[in-house]
Amino acid sequence: MKRYRHLFFDLDNTVWDFTRNSRHALEETFEACQLQNGPVSFCDFNRVYNEFNDKLWELYRQNGITKQELMTKRFDLTFEELEVRGVDSRQFNDWYLSRMPLQTRLCDGAEMVLRTLAGRYELYVITNGFTEVQHKKLENSGINRYFRKVFISEVIKAPKPDPEIFLHALKSSNARKRESLMIGDSWEIDVLGAMQVGLDQVHYAPGLESCDFTAEELAQIGKKQTLTRRINNLAQLLEWL
Ligand SMILES: [Mg+2]
Repeated sequence: MKRYRHLFFDLDNTVWDFTRNSRHALEETFEACQLQNGPVSFCDFNRVYNEFNDKLWELYRQNGITKQELMTKRFDLTFEELEVRGVDSRQFNDWYLSRMPLQTRLCDGAEMVLRTLAGRYELYVITNGFTEVQHKKLENSGINRYFRKVFISEVIKAPKPDPEIFLHALKSSNARKRESLMIGDSWEIDVLGAMQVGLDQVHYAPGLESCDFTAEELAQIGKKQTLTRRINNLAQLLEWL
């Protein structure tokens, strides 16, 4: 078994349960704006918002829009699509972002796995997100203490899967590629991103019953010199780390 020393974790939906925390913060904001008595259900609002948010984040990663545009447009477009009037998008975004990092739900098993691994390895975070928000998520959920350093795309000015953020994290941690492992929930961003700089990777896919790779995925990883694994439960990391 390969001996790793440095483990790099993605944050959102790998250790911090972004899906549930974001939904909860959005619902609190929705209710603070008295929208729950209107014609649009929160369920529809959440769905439409997430569709726009995902598309705009993709644009932001490609430098197609600024942070400020991302933050207001995602709500502008949601309100427009659902014909909700009279709500200020910027203020809605500010309220949502102030509530989000106060949420503390972690992915299943994350606290136990991090606590166990922190005694044996050097742990780090590599995350795409806004500096203040990501730091507060780590602090408020109590997992900050497990990580030696946190690398945030807004600071490094290169979001995953840009090789620059991975290389910056390796250098700044004095980590050798062959002794390092990237663990994340996004196939495109975490797995393929880490693979292209020569890091082994673990794809965390809690929604998948089988950990087998598809033919398309096998074609993507087939010729690479790095090792790719898939888990659907974080505790599986402890079986070989
Ligand atoms: Mg993620």
